[in-house]
Amino acid sequence: MLPQWCNLIRANNPGPMTLDGTNTYVLATGAGNIVIDPGPLIEEHLAAVIELGPVAFTVLTHHHPDHSESAARFHELTGAPVLAQDPALCIAGETLTRDDSALDVPDLDLRVLHTPGHTADSICIEVRGPATGNTGPESAPGRDWHGLLTGDTVLGRGTTVVAHPDGRLGDYLSSLERLRSRLDDGWTLLPAHGPVRADAATVVTEYLAHRQARLNEVRAALAAGATTPREVVEIVYADVDRSVWPAAERTVAAALDYLDERI
Ligand SMILES: [Zn+2]
Repeated sequence: MLPQWCNLIRANNPGPMTLDGTNTYVLATGAGNIVIDPGPLIEEHLAAVIELGPVAFTVLTHHHPDHSESAARFHELTGAPVLAQDPALCIAGETLTRDDSALDVPDLDLRVLHTPGHTADSICIEVRGPATGNTGPESAPGRDWHGLLTGDTVLGRGTTVVAHPDGRLGDYLSSLERLRSRLDDGWTLLPAHGPVRADAATVVTEYLAHRQARLNEVRAALAAGATTPREVVEIVYADVDRSVWPAAERTVAAALDYLDERI
């Protein structure tokens, strides 16, 4: 499913929020590898990423530690700059302040999209490159393969948290709508947790439908007398494993905030 120039190295940090672990993506270009989310601080994981070759630069999709914790160490090991939307996360690299802007790399087309919602600083990265083969001097010049690196904005399975108060549901819904308008099912979804998905547009559409359905359930729980995020979670997330209830509570807090704004 992935072209040869796109590698996925999964960190060994599985858990209820990280699913099988954090996916680190390594995109090979003629100028070196571009690493998306070096992940948690696990030396073996960083070594496995570095083994793939010299690093041109690193991009962080957002500040959560399971994505960014190793950034300083990875910079120390590789000397490569670290880019992010939040200037506090950048190391010797530019801040990705401009929405819908291109990253200057050979062989691939990369565009940074600001997609707040999961967190305020969440970004997605569109990738266009040759459908087969490696990048580099002998590579096919095509840009037939389209992928979307989503960080935690869209996961490979299940749903994500809207991390209230940093994450906001109104922003999140707008970000999903925006992604849906840019994608079709020819795109591959490259999430930071869970499997790569070949049906990117379908996944994003399901995410929007799921979020609207949950919002309706939150409205119903409020109408039934729930008054706190915890009480709403007990009703709306009754069918969900309790290990993710604290995260659900943050998402519900984001929903209550959103509904207040909308009333
Ligand atoms: Zn996250």
